[in-house]
Amino acid sequence: MPWADIIGQPIAVRQLQNALKQNRVGHAYLFFGPPGVGKRTAARVWAQALNCQQGVAGDACGECRSCRNILTGNHPDVWEVPLTGAHIRISQIREVTRQAQFPPTEGCWKVFLIHNAEAMTLEAANNLLKTLEEPPGETLFVLTTPSIFNLLPTIQSRCQQVRFQPLAVRDIAEFLVRQNLAGPAQAELIANLAEGSLLTAQELLTMERGAVREEVIDLLTKLKTAAGPQVLILTEGWTEGPRLKILLPWLALWFRDLLVWQNTGDVKLLINQDRLELIKEQAQIWPRPERFLRIIQEAKRKMERNANNQLLLEVLLLELTSMRRT
Ligand SMILES: [Zn+2]
Repeated sequence: MPWADIIGQPIAVRQLQNALKQNRVGHAYLFFGPPGVGKRTAARVWAQALNCQQGVAGDACGECRSCRNILTGNHPDVWEVPLTGAHIRISQIREVTRQAQFPPTEGCWKVFLIHNAEAMTLEAANNLLKTLEEPPGETLFVLTTPSIFNLLPTIQSRCQQVRFQPLAVRDIAEFLVRQNLAGPAQAELIANLAEGSLLTAQELLTMERGAVREEVIDLLTKLKTAAGPQVLILTEGWTEGPRLKILLPWLALWFRDLLVWQNTGDVKLLINQDRLELIKEQAQIWPRPERFLRIIQEAKRKMERNANNQLLLEVLLLELTSMRRT
């Protein structure tokens, strides 16, 4: 059943299923939550459930013609507004509001999915607002966005809000294994780094295939002895946004393992269990990993605020070398 495809969002799913079961479907919904946690998939399943020809209580069969057409984007009553550039333009929303005036032709509901709704221009948002204020008959709007605060308060208040949570590490790991994207050990490692997002997990997996962890280990091995200008040379190849974005969580995970090893000596608690010898060795070199973990967190925040990556990484690595046991 399609709702079963949505992982780790029991509250959101129940909210939507109940609306359908109790015949209390509204005209406008706002799905909000971090990227990569299932908002878009849930919006499609919701459209399927509303129009399923099998009429399974609150769910979609996933197999009837309607369900299949919605999945492939070929249902005449389900519209997805594409984000082609930086903005959703007024011409796109005008087309939506025009189409909304016609009743559904095949299904029970005419459904408009507006992903990244925060990308609507002010004119587009105001145009949509008029339709949300007086929605025609069997018309449903689903807006998705990472943060409701990026939308006009008037739009927020017209929509029923459905919150999507960051996913649990276990849910991400199980998904990766189930989809044959990773073996159990690798899935566990990636899930720990993904910060609750399947999207991030998949990005990490792509980079992991490029053996990023081995590169990070290589970097740390060189840092054991590097000093001054040598440290600065080691930043080479890591300062581009996507590379740095992946380096920081890998470093954090590594130092987390050093900390765990120093405090417990229990190999089962390590994430990089397969590199035990190196962890033992490095746990001697860096006696205070918790300090470095705090520095990494700070660097991540700075990176999100668009700090100079080169400078950020130079400072980070120099701080790391200054914490070596001498
Ligand atoms: Zn169906």
